[in-house]
Amino acid sequence: MEKTPVSKNQKLTVKIIDLTYEGLGVAKVEGYPLFIENTLVGEEAEILVVKVGKHFGYGKVLQLLSESSDRQPLDNLDLLRTGIAPLAHLKYEKQLLFKQQQIENDLKKIAKLENVPVLPTIGMAQPVGYRNKAQIPVRKIGGKLETGFYRKNSHDLVPIENFMIQDPKIDEALLVIKDLLRKFGIKPYNEKENTGFLRHIVIRRGHYSHEMMVTFVTHREKFFNGKDIAQLIVEKLPEVVSVIQNINERATNVIFGNQEKVLFGKSFIQDQLLGKTYQISSRSFYQVNTVQTEYLYQTAIDFAQLKPDDVVIDAYCGIGTIGLSFAERVAKVYGVEIVADAVEDARKNAELNGITNAEYEAGNAEEVMTKWLADGVKPTVIFVDPPRKGLTEPFIKAAAETAPERIIYVSCNPATLARDLRLFDDLGYQAVKVQPVDLFPQTTSVECVVLLTQKK
Ligand code: SAH
Repeated sequence: MEKTPVSKNQKLTVKIIDLTYEGLGVAKVEGYPLFIENTLVGEEAEILVVKVGKHFGYGKVLQLLSESSDRQPLDNLDLLRTGIAPLAHLKYEKQLLFKQQQIENDLKKIAKLENVPVLPTIGMAQPVGYRNKAQIPVRKIGGKLETGFYRKNSHDLVPIENFMIQDPKIDEALLVIKDLLRKFGIKPYNEKENTGFLRHIVIRRGHYSHEMMVTFVTHREKFFNGKDIAQLIVEKLPEVVSVIQNINERATNVIFGNQEKVLFGKSFIQDQLLGKTYQISSRSFYQVNTVQTEYLYQTAIDFAQLKPDDVVIDAYCGIGTIGLSFAERVAKVYGVEIVADAVEDARKNAELNGITNAEYEAGNAEEVMTKWLADGVKPTVIFVDPPRKGLTEPFIKAAAETAPERIIYVSCNPATLARDLRLFDDLGYQAVKVQPVDLFPQTTSVECVVLLTQKK
């Protein structure tokens, strides 16, 4: 093996020259990159080399020798170590710039699109305590049931009580629930052996409604005292309107299993977005930052310039929130979504809001698009909002073939977005502008809306 210019456990003084998309500082020793947590561009640090690979390594700060003016104070370094808030040491206005620049870079490098304006990121006035949902692993530490978060790239649980970015009411509820679970002697799950009982606690709280749902993801079905625990939770936390048990017996990283039981109350909570009411089931996707989601959707709607005779496709529609936000202003909305519970929520949500011109299909977006195409559906506007892996080639081809006037791409991953915009461009759809909206302050996640129009 070639010799690397640094070795493990070596102490070095380095200067930080870049920040990765994951929020790690980059230093170079004879061209060899070292990635270092809790550092910013321009800072000098004394570091310990903790990992050496063939092409790059990792270092840990022993002492910061100079501080960037972009740094903001951070009391709890576990927020960086766990990846809960990997940008929490960077001033918020710089976080917003970092996200805008990341999109610009990806559009240039991956999509080879030079002249698409990327607008300044829409940020939050109070960029903390925004998450309406928490998915918290439960493990045994020192003989006790603990809740917290995994250390990055590992499954070692770091106990955490103040998550900084979660609705503080969720953090509070978690403490109450943890206490009850300990009193009842509930056994935490053991991942290595696939034994034990309680795997995750998932909590959702409606930003406007304040309705709370608590879901216990358990390894086995039999939940001794499950109903009593649910009853006590509701007594102590009156906002809770739904307690669910989700059963996941498999040895897997996927949080939810396929089977659910209601331990208390309803099987969903309700919340509002842009004045409409939505029911949200435990396994349905719902944007975690309600305040910013309203900006995101409003931008998408503005980009679409909707008209009364528009026929709109809402692809990757979740519980229908994008299409239902404007359904009464257009002729027809078709939605497609792969999670069956979410499709049921979407149908229910149309009904809840008195909307009669929205139709939903459960299935894979690319297959349903092809079917709609065959059925002669002629959309004038298509909204897409795929998960991180982005769209597929068959989907993009089917979308372009239906020849809509405009396509609105809501993306949570600039790299796959850029890849897809390249293909759209080749098929005659050009990206006109990009509006980043910060849905995940203090983290490295980047969300944006893109307007595409047919080339003349
Ligand atoms: N537009 C919604 C949901 C966006 S998240 C909102 O704003 O809330 C992306 C959604 O795509 C999720 O609900 C996920 O279940 C769904 N999804 C993932 N892969 C899919 C596929 N291949 N076909 C259709 N939907 C899919």
